[in-house]
Amino acid sequence: MRLGVDVGGTFVKFTDGENRWKERTPKTKEDLVSLISSVGKSLNVKSIGVAVAGLVNTKKGTVTESPNLKFLNGFPLKEELEKKLNVQVSIFNDATAAAYGEYKLGVGRGSSVFLCLTLGTGLGGGAVIEGAPLFGVSGTAMEVGHITVEVNGWPCHCGRKGCLEAYVSSYGLERFYFMETGECASSFEVIERAKNRETEALKSIDEMSDYLTVGIASLIHLFNPDVVAISGGIPASYPELLKTTEQKVKKRAFKQPASDFSLKLAELGEFSGAFGALLLTMYNSS
Ligand SMILES: [Zn+2]
Repeated sequence: MRLGVDVGGTFVKFTDGENRWKERTPKTKEDLVSLISSVGKSLNVKSIGVAVAGLVNTKKGTVTESPNLKFLNGFPLKEELEKKLNVQVSIFNDATAAAYGEYKLGVGRGSSVFLCLTLGTGLGGGAVIEGAPLFGVSGTAMEVGHITVEVNGWPCHCGRKGCLEAYVSSYGLERFYFMETGECASSFEVIERAKNRETEALKSIDEMSDYLTVGIASLIHLFNPDVVAISGGIPASYPELLKTTEQKVKKRAFKQPASDFSLKLAELGEFSGAFGALLLTMYNSS
């Protein structure tokens, strides 16, 4: 039995391949290790894949830097779990895992050059090329959210300025709305208002979409993909974003790669990372 785990800012998602469930994310690394190891013990698993929101070192099995899970910065998660469980543990970036999950079981099936963006609290990215997930040398490839789109732009949760994520994320959308109205509203509220055709909310989503367009056009110029998927709460609750962004990308990018690709909503919802982490344990051992 294998276990896939996806540690996010709010929930830890689990799957054993058939069932899926989630728990609130613990506040300390000790509690996180206890949670994962108790699930692992109760299911008598042989190997565990853990996806973490942030930069990880897949070779060492450590969490290097996680802007939204700061208590995990520098934590040797693989080693600590293996001490408790005596099973094989692998650590992955959550967006790489989500991309692999969508490639194997979701909207990326049959794609030869597949890219997947996760748009929620932050902006993550993953790629599966000819069936192979792109890890980079140590596991940090495809940090799409932290490519610079404005030299002295808005501050990003990572501490840098002008990252794509500073504009394309829940907090990016909230900033656009604040710039339009002077009012603080959550990204969820902005989307609800856009559904009710409020002009300022629609304008804010359109501005976020302009930055998403620039990011996707750059990815298309680099990778020439056939499918770009987007997962996460914002696109799931406002699918119009995909249609308008795809049209803008097709206008902005080179014609040939623009005509080769389509922008699609991910299919596994919030569990793509957990499924991907489970499947990647098999990829690693194959
Ligand atoms: Zn950043």
